[in-house]
Amino acid sequence: MKKPVIISGPCSAETREQLLSTIDGIVKCGKVDIIRAGIWKPRTHPGAFEGIGEEGLKWLAEVKDKYRVKVCTEVASAKHVELSKKYGIDVLWIGARTTVSPFAVQEIADSLRDYPDTRIMIKNPVNPDVELWTGSVQRILDAGIKKENIALIHRGFSIYGEHKYRNQPVWAIPLEMRRRFPEMKLICDPSHISGNSEYIKEICQVAANLQYDGLMIESHICPAKALSDSKQQITPSELPTLLDSIIWRADSCDDEEFARMIKVYRSEIDEIDISILDLLSKRMDISDKIGELKQKNNVAILQNRRWSDVVNSAVDRAVSLGLSEQFISKILEAIHMESIRHQSNILK
Ligand code: PEP
Ligand code: MN
Repeated sequence: MKKPVIISGPCSAETREQLLSTIDGIVKCGKVDIIRAGIWKPRTHPGAFEGIGEEGLKWLAEVKDKYRVKVCTEVASAKHVELSKKYGIDVLWIGARTTVSPFAVQEIADSLRDYPDTRIMIKNPVNPDVELWTGSVQRILDAGIKKENIALIHRGFSIYGEHKYRNQPVWAIPLEMRRRFPEMKLICDPSHISGNSEYIKEICQVAANLQYDGLMIESHICPAKALSDSKQQITPSELPTLLDSIIWRADSCDDEEFARMIKVYRSEIDEIDISILDLLSKRMDISDKIGELKQKNNVAILQNRRWSDVVNSAVDRAVSLGLSEQFISKILEAIHMESIRHQSNILK
């Protein structure tokens, strides 16, 4: 079974007592590999607690020394990197609000040229942009940091409006990042995805099901009194219960019957995928013919009533076949957009 990397600690270092009492509890549970604490906090609104600054680095150095643990913190500028190095911070991370800014990431990357052995974690940008995340990773790689020393943290994506989770997971994006950077550890941050301690466990389990390499979970000695992210932090004593409840499964299995059956099922899936692709291609050919007909008769591409009928009857049928409405709607939307693209090429 794989041993996930567990990172935990408060959202922010607030006071020496708060940090030490939190870490004392975490270290005692014996399940945490790296301690986290934010020293400089990028807050949405001015006037909120913006971090304790350099003073907090002294406390983190004390934690490291007293408990013989690795510590990590967020950096958003070359100055932060310099100070973190001065106090012996083992691992740095670039926060979501920094990953969106190529200027800021480049500044951090340049400052790392003097520290080629740095271990650094790069959170996803706040917006669901796989290229922006990739670009940040590329800047750090170009500064000479080894890929084995870079990790990716998935902390979810911000969208407008009220939703169950504070940040939407959009699991497809971190999975695409893992495809692009298979050597890098992929860590899930369920605290910032959920924004609410109630939902942390369910997000951790999805991450475990998707073979993530670790978790970053915010913990605080007294979450209700936390100066930042109060709703999403758990206590050090809740942490081991949470971690024990997550089921991590093996990458693969040596059982012969398992290997035989999975091969059978996979070849069935491969055949079905080929049929789906053939059918989609046939569908587009017909769509092209309709496009030519519309071109000849000067008829617009989008026939709203017709499209509503297609969607409604397909959704009804899909639901009666046990497929979810959400899933089928997404597929139909993609097919429709591709048909429109095809017909747009004809009706120039
Ligand atoms: C944090 O880890 O406390 C933090 C600010 O995270 P993010 O960059 O994901 O918002
Ligand atoms: Mn936080």
